[in-house]
Amino acid sequence: MGFFDLFRRPGAARDAVAIEIDLAAGLLDECPICRGISDGQRDDRLPAAELMVHQRFDRNDPSVAVFAGDRDDLLRRLRAVRDRFDYRCACQDAG
Ligand SMILES: [Zn+2]
Repeated sequence: MGFFDLFRRPGAARDAVAIEIDLAAGLLDECPICRGISDGQRDDRLPAAELMVHQRFDRNDPSVAVFAGDRDDLLRRLRAVRDRFDYRCACQDAG
């Protein structure tokens, strides 16, 4: 499944926010070469991702407006979206 296919699914806009936060927190890794996203199994980064969620809701950040105040939904999606990124790209195998 390609990256842009993700945004055609139901709830895609919400998932996109969860993916962005996972990337920012280091839960997911974006390959600098092919832009492929992989799950680095960095469960130790989950608290950092959850903190970002709370901070964004607390300051009414526009990036979480799509959740209409439902921060629990975003917290769930932080974990749920990771299931899609179980592969590692060929660039990382080479390096
Ligand atoms: Zn790559």
